[in-house]
Amino acid sequence: MAEFPPLYIQNSLTRKKELFTPLKPPHVGMYVCGPTVYSNVHLGNVRTFLTFDIVYRYLIYLGYHVRYVRNITDVGHLTGDSDAGEDKISKKARLEKLEPMEVVQKYTNDFHDVMRVFNMKSPSIEPSATGHIVEQIGMIEAILDRGYAYQSNGSVYFNVRKYNEDFDYGVLSGRKIDDLINNTRSLDGQDEKNDPLDFALWKKADSSHLMKWPSPWSIGFPGWHLECSVMSTKYLGPQFDIHGGGMDLKFPHHECEIAQNAGATAQSHSVRYWMHGNMLTVNGRKMAKSEGNGFTPEELITGNHALLERGYSPMTVRFFMLQGHYASPLDFSNAALQAAEKGLERLMSALTTLETLPTKANSRNPDVDITSLSDRCIKAMGDDFNTPILISVLFDAVKLVNSIASDHIAIDATQKADLEELFNGYVFDILGLMREDKGSGNNNVESSALLDLLVKLRGNAKSNKDWQTADAIRTALGELGISIKDSKEGSTWERD
Ligand code: AMP
Ligand code: ZN
Repeated sequence: MAEFPPLYIQNSLTRKKELFTPLKPPHVGMYVCGPTVYSNVHLGNVRTFLTFDIVYRYLIYLGYHVRYVRNITDVGHLTGDSDAGEDKISKKARLEKLEPMEVVQKYTNDFHDVMRVFNMKSPSIEPSATGHIVEQIGMIEAILDRGYAYQSNGSVYFNVRKYNEDFDYGVLSGRKIDDLINNTRSLDGQDEKNDPLDFALWKKADSSHLMKWPSPWSIGFPGWHLECSVMSTKYLGPQFDIHGGGMDLKFPHHECEIAQNAGATAQSHSVRYWMHGNMLTVNGRKMAKSEGNGFTPEELITGNHALLERGYSPMTVRFFMLQGHYASPLDFSNAALQAAEKGLERLMSALTTLETLPTKANSRNPDVDITSLSDRCIKAMGDDFNTPILISVLFDAVKLVNSIASDHIAIDATQKADLEELFNGYVFDILGLMREDKGSGNNNVESSALLDLLVKLRGNAKSNKDWQTADAIRTALGELGISIKDSKEGSTWERD
């Protein structure tokens, strides 16, 4: 079997960076909690899905056969933190006078559009909670059979204390059950629980509730945490490799998932590597719909939001996010996005420069050490998907390309092809960046590709000592408000 380069993953469960060894190589099973489709996704959600897009892309790049399951939450997620409040989708349906499934479809479509705009790969399976009610009832029965749940007034609750006698509730989040007891407020509907710590597996629906199904206990609906336990097990097996989500899901959602899986099967480690992405913040506060600081990707692109000085293109945002490590918080700012826009432009124009580099037979340049660059890239990604380090290595490659171009250093065709392969692999396949028309981000109409081409043609003219053509291009662009800057690293263009 092929050897895979070492990959270390920070495992939230063990709090250690561990060598990734899949259960059944070359196969990898990965489950990521998807969106609750009751409103438009905001940029914070995009960050988490981007984190796992990178994990997915890199595993594929390494040669793994990945089954990536990302669910759609279309029932069971209540407005309250705990088991209280209205179902988020039912509430939206009531307010907008729509069928709940119309709400689900509308925001699932929106989610898919956003994923496409940001060039996220589609998962292998995208199961929905409402499509797995039968399996959810089955898991509740298994948990009841093992004695870790009880019925109360038509609802079924998970018995946390009983479970904690045999397993460790809090193993993922590090929370201690005694602290939880002291911090758990008594909320609506909790009077039917034996203990405020317990959480709902099935809730009996009242007559006004829009989404409900028959079950052995009542006409009702499943608890929010259950769907992920059920769908991950169904598609990836009772044990699988990676489970991801935003770190705000660690508790209670993922802690409850672990408890449900263990409670149903008596096997305590269903997931081998738990991964949690950190939050996108605005002025240090988590971006969230409820905070009023969450803008949609559309607002971002048009610049139509109080937080935005102007519009930014999707790839600028992708690049901005990847300049931070997924496990660190990332604060949104216009200055950071503008810096990312410039950085991305430099990277993309180096790729154009590379395409036009002339090669010379028998002139392998010993100073052009592509193996070392490539090793540093693999090492960066192998160290818990460290995209900021990867990007810094890519900028070393940019410097190299630009100095080859400006100093007219000879390289041979193999060296050029190796450099192209390095960039194509890391920039496009792994980081998932795309070339885009600059007009899409800041309302300028000129096509960046055309400008890149003109700068490239001017570079060729200069190499041929055709000063007249080179000057003519500079003057013509200058009249359009575009200036060309020459530096040791090559030529770039800028709008005045
Ligand atoms: P939700 O639709 O609220 O269930 O969230 C979908 C995903 O987005 C979850 O994995 C959340 O952890 C994640 N998420 C929500 N807010 C943010 C944020 N500000 N930054 C990063 N991820 C977030
Ligand atoms: Zn989940």
